[in-house]
Formats: sequence, structure tokens, C-alpha cells
Amino acid sequence: MAFIVKQKVHGKDYYYLRKSVREGKKVISKCLGYLGKDKKQAEKKARQIIEKMKKEKSKDTKPASHLGKLKKKVSVMEKQNISIEELATFCRRKGFVYPSGEIYGGFAGFWDFGHLGVELKNNIKRAWWDFHVKQRDDIAGIDGSIITHPKTWEASGHVESFSDIFVVCKKCKKQSKTSKGELGKTKCEFCGGDYDEKTAKEFKLMFEVMVGGDSKSYLRPETAQLIFTNFKSVYENARLKLPCGIAQIGKAFRNEIAPRDFLFRSREFEQMEIEYFVNPKKEVCPYEIPDVEILVYDDEAQEKNQEPVKMKIKESLKKKIIKKDWHAYWLATEFLWFKSLGANPENFRIRQHKKYELSHYSTDTWDLEYKFPFGWKELEGIADRGDYDLSQHEKFSKKDLKVFDSATEKKVLPHVVCEPSLGVERAFLVFMFDSYFFDKKRENIVLKIHPSLAPVKAAIFPIVKTNEKIVKLSKEIYSSLKKDFNVVFDMGGSVGRRYSRADETGIPFCITVDELSLDKKDVTIRFRDSTEQVRIKISEINKTLKNGIEGENIKKFGKLVDTRKK
Ligand code: ATP
Repeated sequence: MAFIVKQKVHGKDYYYLRKSVREGKKVISKCLGYLGKDKKQAEKKARQIIEKMKKEKSKDTKPASHLGKLKKKVSVMEKQNISIEELATFCRRKGFVYPSGEIYGGFAGFWDFGHLGVELKNNIKRAWWDFHVKQRDDIAGIDGSIITHPKTWEASGHVESFSDIFVVCKKCKKQSKTSKGELGKTKCEFCGGDYDEKTAKEFKLMFEVMVGGDSKSYLRPETAQLIFTNFKSVYENARLKLPCGIAQIGKAFRNEIAPRDFLFRSREFEQMEIEYFVNPKKEVCPYEIPDVEILVYDDEAQEKNQEPVKMKIKESLKKKIIKKDWHAYWLATEFLWFKSLGANPENFRIRQHKKYELSHYSTDTWDLEYKFPFGWKELEGIADRGDYDLSQHEKFSKKDLKVFDSATEKKVLPHVVCEPSLGVERAFLVFMFDSYFFDKKRENIVLKIHPSLAPVKAAIFPIVKTNEKIVKLSKEIYSSLKKDFNVVFDMGGSVGRRYSRADETGIPFCITVDELSLDKKDVTIRFRDSTEQVRIKISEINKTLKNGIEGENIKKFGKLVDTRKK
């Protein structure tokens, strides 16, 4: 029997459809779906779900054809298109992300990452660093300070012009932000109405801080400037050669006018950035442009109100839609990074900034955009910054920032041909949205996150908790795996219940220790996405997990078993 449950989170009501099911001796409540925030809508949605379930049940009870029998064994994954509020509720419920200062009512634009969120965030950062720094010879990393010399922000132009324009929509009265260049050109993002230009006012985005007694500085609004101020030292000490890059991951702070959409626009966030330097006289990209296809939306198509066109990034360079090979290279590389970690390529496009959108330092900027439930939005900006930053810092510091280019045997002030700049939290949202599935057969959410990003890599279950020998062996396996992986030990409830818990938080592998394990020194390992299970030796678990995390199919590692036959 299904029933509606109201849950209060952060002062707001959320409705869910749940059902009591018996598991062994216990009766537990299982979530059948999220119903939204409105009571009437929730009741309507609940009726629809129950109706659908009844229909499916009657299909299942019909005599099964041979094909039907085979089909029943396979899990039926359905992609769930959830809203940003639903994702926030899920993240809150499962321990990924909490509103910061929640016990005091929350604090707009600030979020805390829970025990699973911190692992996912760290895994995203590690994957980004491995791909962009560790596995390349041309990029070195730094970790700059959050508060630095205030002159940095004068030189970069932030003190003067890092601001947004606060606007109110004449029609729906909602507050929003736009930029100076966009005022009068953009419409309200909620209702398409006009912004009231009379009440529009400038809003400085940098947080000021007092350092010591009387010295004013700022919390950095981007990580990039620390790369520029350290450029010459890093170039020389890391023995870089042009073309080359410097990368950094770290916190950035912006006093956003209207923080919204969960992690998408917050006041404290993290950036993963690269400044890629070239000699302006030798700008040709020596790297192969990854062979990827994506929706391309250039300035002209936007002006003419045309649709974006799907094409290979290489082709858009040939057709001169993308002007520089370096831009094509970095756009394709960044897209490839997301794809290689399981993001859905259909949800991505690249969009060129219109002339009036360009920042003062940029000659050309393309964004990698993602189809969020609230529309296509910037995920990563990739700007051509020229020599703006290094020449500004030369001017303000009166230091020579030119470096020796061994290819031309001359000193040069390099240009930043591309600045791939990605928010960690926006990447976090992409991986959550693209991995959120509902399995009709299992009747629960399955977070199909790439095993290398999954917060917890494996769960270890003793099949029964009453058998001391099984529990002891399970604990030994758990302790040994813990040295190399983030794993959990779970004895709570039936094995089915434990699988559901693991699936919902994206644990890719569940290891079950049973009677046979005691004699044969082997275990069953189950893969989250297919529910397939193989029997492997205890001595092989570590290697199997390592290969599985790298994306190999676990069927390669042992004999497939059908646990229902046992
Ligand atoms: P937007 O137009 O969305 O405000 P932006 O163009 O100001 O973004 P950049 O200055 O290019 O953003 O910052 C680089 C990246 O940092 C963005 O692509 C985004 O991923 C991330 N980012 C910027 N502002 C925020 C924010 N307030 N909250 C979360 N991430 C952010």
C-alpha cells in the first residue's frame, strides 16, 4: 500500500510517495518517487504513479513468453529528469550537500559538503588534476593564497570593474543580475519581460576583508590572477617551455546579487583553471584536436536566431566558425574530459560569446554549456585573454615578466591563448544529473556515477549477521580494502535493502561474504549498473576493484553467478 509523506527540509515541504515492504522479519518503507512541493500536485502525481504501477503489475502477472522471461532478469533503467530543487533535496537527504548554517536557517549562496559530497568533490578535482596536470608535460600546477596583495586586483581591473548590474523585471518583479554590456539587450530569465533600467544599479562583486589592523584586501573572485602574479617564477622553476600552461584548483568568492539554482550560482565556490601561454609569434597548436562532435552555436547563428548545429569541432575549425586551432583544441579537450567520466554528450554544446558579452580583456570567448533543467547555461568559460593580464601586472608591479622562449631564442611576454575555467560545483551538478536513474525492477534510484568518481567504491556485506565467522571474515576484508579504497561495511537489514542503499549513493561494487567464502576463500561481487555478479577469490578483490574503478567490465574477472539459483 503506497502512501504520501511530507518532509520538511530547510523550512520547505517536500512530498514523497512511499510504500511499506516486508524484508525478512522487518517492515521497511521504500521511496517510490518524489512528488514535488505542492500538496495538490503531489496527490495528482501519486495517483499517476500508482496507476502506472498497477498497469505494470498486471503486465508482469500475464503468462510470460520465453522472451518475457529473459527480459525480467534484466534491470530496467529509466533516466530521471529531475529539477534542481529535487536534486538539492536528494543531495540533502543522502548526505552529499547541506545548506550552510542550516540550523540557523541557512545562508544564501553558501553550501556545506557532507560525507559523500566531499568525496565526490575530491574525486572530481583529482580526475581534473590527473587529466590536465599529472598526465601532461606542458602544464604545471600551483596553489595560490586566497587573500593576496590588493594591487593584484587593481592591476587585473577587478577593483574598477568587477561588478554586475542589479535589475528587477518590470513584469514579474523578480530580481536578477546582468552585466553593463548586456543591459537593455537581455530579457528577464524567468518570464522574458524587460528589466527596469531606471532602478538598475551597479553591484560590486568582490568581498572586502581587513588584513591586520588597517589594510584592506579582497577574497579572490577567481583563481586566475594568482597564476599571473606567479607566472615568471613557475615558468622558470618548473622549466616550462612555450607553449605551456599553469593550472590551479581553489576557492573563489563572489558577492552574487542573486545566488540561486542550488550549487550553480553560489557566493563561495571552487574553480579549476588553466592559463595557457603561447608566444604570439608562434601560435600554432601542435596537438591533435580530439575527434569529438558537439552542438556548435556561434555568434552569427545566435544573431540570426538560428539553431546550433551538430558537427565535429575539427570541422568547425576548418569552416572558420572557430577561428583559432588552440580554441578548438581546448574546447574539444574539455568536452572529452566530461565524456570520459560518463557525462551524457547530448547535454553539451559550445557557444561563442556575442560581442557585447565579451569581457574587456577578451578577443574571443567560447563557453562549454550544459543543458541544466533551468536551461542551457555556462559550465566552463574558455577565453582568449591575449597579453592583457601579464602586461597589466608588469605595469603595476614595474617588474619585467618577459620570459625566454627557447624556440625563438628571444625574450617574450606570452599571450594567454586560452583560459579553460570550470567551476567544481557546476561539474558536480553535471555528474549528479547525468547519473540519476530510476530502476523500475529494483524500485529504487540508481546513481550511475562513473566508478572513478563514486564517493564510496565498495560496500562489504556479511550475508547474515548471526554467523560470527562470516562477520569476522567480512570485517577482515573490509579492513584490508580500507587501506586502498573508500569502502563501507554494512550489516543493516536484508541484503536487498543493503543493495538499494548502495545503489542510491552510487556505490559501484557490493561484495557479499557467505558460507562458501569460509571454505573456498572467495566472495560474490555485484556491479551496480547491471546487477551482474561474479565469484572471485578474496586475494583478487583488490585488483578487481582497481580495474573496475578504471571502467573495466567486472565480468572479465570471474565466473558470472546467478544468486537466485543458490
Ligand atoms: P556567470 O556568467 O554564470 O556568472 P562567469 O562568466 O562570471 O559566470 P567566469 O568568471 O568565467 O564565470 O568563471 C569561470 C567558471 O567559474 C564558470 O564557468 C563557472 O563554472 C564558475 N563560476 C563562476 N561563478 C560562479 C558562481 N557564482 N557559483 C558557482 N560557480 C561559478
